[in-house]
Amino acid sequence: MSRVLVIGCGGVASVAVRKCCQADDVFTELCIASRTKDKCDALARKLEGRTRTKITTAQVDADDVQQVIALINGYRPELVMNIALPYQDLTIMDACLACGVNYMDTANYEPEDTDDPAWRAVYEKRCREQGFSAYFDYSWQWAYRERFAQKGLTALLGCGFDPGVTQAYCAYAAKHEFDRIETIDILDCNGGDHGYPFATNFNPEVNLREVSAPGSYWENGHWVEIPAMSVRREYDFDQVGEKDMYLLHHEEIESLAQNIPGVKRIRFFMTFGQSYLTHMKCLENVGMLSTTPVAFEGHQIVPIKFLKALLPDPASLGPRTRGKTNIGCIFAGEKDGRKKTYYLYNVCDHQACYRETESQAVSYTTGVPAMCGALMLLTGQWKMPGVHTVEEFDPDPFLDALDRYGLPRSENRSPRMVD
Ligand code: NDP
Repeated sequence: MSRVLVIGCGGVASVAVRKCCQADDVFTELCIASRTKDKCDALARKLEGRTRTKITTAQVDADDVQQVIALINGYRPELVMNIALPYQDLTIMDACLACGVNYMDTANYEPEDTDDPAWRAVYEKRCREQGFSAYFDYSWQWAYRERFAQKGLTALLGCGFDPGVTQAYCAYAAKHEFDRIETIDILDCNGGDHGYPFATNFNPEVNLREVSAPGSYWENGHWVEIPAMSVRREYDFDQVGEKDMYLLHHEEIESLAQNIPGVKRIRFFMTFGQSYLTHMKCLENVGMLSTTPVAFEGHQIVPIKFLKALLPDPASLGPRTRGKTNIGCIFAGEKDGRKKTYYLYNVCDHQACYRETESQAVSYTTGVPAMCGALMLLTGQWKMPGVHTVEEFDPDPFLDALDRYGLPRSENRSPRMVD
């Protein structure tokens, strides 16, 4: 019997809410709150009569801490699921602390305005000291550790697929398969085709910022940064086939480097088609990926926000997308004195996801883990006051829940390794 507040009602939140309603013995009451209340109402109407979960809706601007506090105090949830954008992570965490409520999200904090001088000073110091230049990192949210711990509250960070399930796969490998993990390669393959020359599978602003940034990986205790898209490999993915993939910076590398003892190297690869890359490079070259406002005919316009308005809404890709995703981790290390390799992954079918939730697999593979993470917190299977990432918790009940709610794991005990 739990009351949960979901903030955000985009592609990922819609899947998470539908999945929560499948577990209506645990998620007995749900409030869906977002900037645009109409979207919350539309989702609530679709679920009417199909679940025992009692759904209400609300309008909130989650950039405003006072509004979130008022919403939480009015609804009194046990958990706030932040499935809005990474820009709202800190305001929602502040509100949870003020109201004494547990918190979770699916992506680590990133500022909306990367030209803000106060943020930039901290960012530039971090770039110099740590050696990676992504706009997002965990330091902002790890700074809340003591305050959450002191209040006996749990904050679960990054509980989507990657970050999220990939870290649970690492915790599982460390618990059951290896005495020592030496290398981890996280492989994110989207073999789906939506038929557009160019579209992003989730929020275009967040997606394009991530992909156009320099890549980096963790090796022998420090970060190695490389120019964007400069390391390419081919890999033959189960049920998808041969794809080009590129080394990217990704947020879970940062926490895994701290939480997997003795790990020597962690890399992250994502597949991209040539058409996507050519479009992205062109947009970048003409300045359309910039987050700095430009004056245009008397208005201030942020180029990447304008681009977002032109691109297909990720939510509209669902009915058009065919093919599968394959996301997982390849490990090398030692067990009982012997060298071994191991690959743990999930394959997800875009059309099957659409039939079940009216969303394609990218939203599905994020929304289902968000719901399963919430399930772990609400049922007390994961309870650890403080601010934590997924690999810090017991992976077993979480992976069991994923198997049950639509993201079953597959394994390969002699995988082809990535050179
Ligand atoms: P969408 O853009 O589809 O949805 C975002 C939602 O947040 C919208 O409903 C939007 O409202 C709402 N929102 C934005 N700003 C505010 C605000 N100030 N106050 C209240 N609501 C707000 O994004 P996605 O669903 O694709 O992504 C959701 C999150 O999931 C993102 O943080 C993304 O980075 C993360 N993600 C994580 C992945 C993982 O594997 N871990 C993979 C994919 C995504 P409105 O409708 O008004 O715009």
